[in-house]
Amino acid sequence: MDIHEYQAKEILANFGVEVPPGALAYSPEQAAYRSREIGGDQWVVKAQIHAGGRGKAGGVKVCQNDSEIQSICEGLFGRKLVTHQTGPEGKGIYRVYVESVVPIEREIYIGFVLDRSSQRIMIVTSAEGGMEIEDISAERPESIVRAIVEPAVGLQDFQCREIAFKLGIEPSLTQRMVRTLQGCYGAFQEYDATMVEINPLVVTGDNRVLALDAKMTFDDNALFRHPQISELRDKSQEDPRESKAADRGLNYVGLDGNIGCIVNGAGLAMATMDTIKLAGGEPANFLDIGGGATPERVAKAFRLVMSDLSVQAVLVNIFAGINRCDWVAEGIVQALREVQVDVPVIVRLAGTNVEEGQKILARSGLPIIRANNLMEAAERAIGAWKSDLSNQQIGEN
Ligand code: ADP
Ligand code: MG
Repeated sequence: MDIHEYQAKEILANFGVEVPPGALAYSPEQAAYRSREIGGDQWVVKAQIHAGGRGKAGGVKVCQNDSEIQSICEGLFGRKLVTHQTGPEGKGIYRVYVESVVPIEREIYIGFVLDRSSQRIMIVTSAEGGMEIEDISAERPESIVRAIVEPAVGLQDFQCREIAFKLGIEPSLTQRMVRTLQGCYGAFQEYDATMVEINPLVVTGDNRVLALDAKMTFDDNALFRHPQISELRDKSQEDPRESKAADRGLNYVGLDGNIGCIVNGAGLAMATMDTIKLAGGEPANFLDIGGGATPERVAKAFRLVMSDLSVQAVLVNIFAGINRCDWVAEGIVQALREVQVDVPVIVRLAGTNVEEGQKILARSGLPIIRANNLMEAAERAIGAWKSDLSNQQIGEN
């Protein structure tokens, strides 16, 4: 789960990371009011969306007075901001953060990530702050400084000092840098984060080290341990298909294709997507309905897949190990009677009681296309969608 910049800054500030004074607003008037509360004579107005690259896309603007803040905000609120991280559909702006303008002397990149190959938390930093890390690693790979945290002892101050030294931080600021890095590590550990990024971390003219931007991502599977983090979830920033699935306890990732997939087991779901591609099609989603494919879950899955208007055929691929194909078949039949599915449905069942399951599907009288193996299922899904399409075109003519 991702959170907003202002939320990440609040968390990091509690762990000792210094941030500029700022406040959140839900309307242009409130933004102007907030700037007066903050004081000073220059502010940045920052669109709060779950994506970076806002600066270049016009989502971060410097303002000198109330009326400028209001007019900038009027141009932001309710609009979709498209950055190189949002995809072409963009993300809606419903909150802005107003912050004091900071006199920047140097911009640094710092990121804490979970490094799967070393199975450790890895710190990635660069003296080329402000740029995206992908660009830094492509253009100035030598500027990247990495360190790995030994979990038995945690992040050590000497490691932080070493990073500060390698980044060329002035010795008088080393201690502030140590505090910042330790703060990020503390927040990462405490809340089961998978990513903490400050880009840019800046050194100011008056010798402070401040986080001007902040990003945090959390491990969804650990959210149950942190209700105060779960509360920060902002569904307006999520793919609506994915939030709906999460609310229903289904494991769903929306994709751009048109073959909807309903599968039990993550590995089988991946294999199904691969096979659809191999057969020349494009999956519309990844969907793991879990081991217990009960009629209710199958119906929920159909509803979810059918709510995606680009879906033109549905492939159900179930392997019944602990489960039983006859139960799953009952579930499919029941679901198809409840949910209006007006695209071809292809079902491949395998495993326990498969013959019984096939009989149930056949006896149902529903127009289910059955397949004996995965390749056949994928080919039939693509074939069915294409012939459905040409039938429609004949109908239209
Ligand atoms: P994004 O990464 O989404 O583009 P940032 O928060 O990093 O958004 O802001 C973009 C740029 O705007 C920063 O690299 C920095 O140069 C500038 N900026 C952001 N906040 C401030 C601030 N409080 N004072 C001065 N400049 C800022
Ligand atoms: Mg940034």
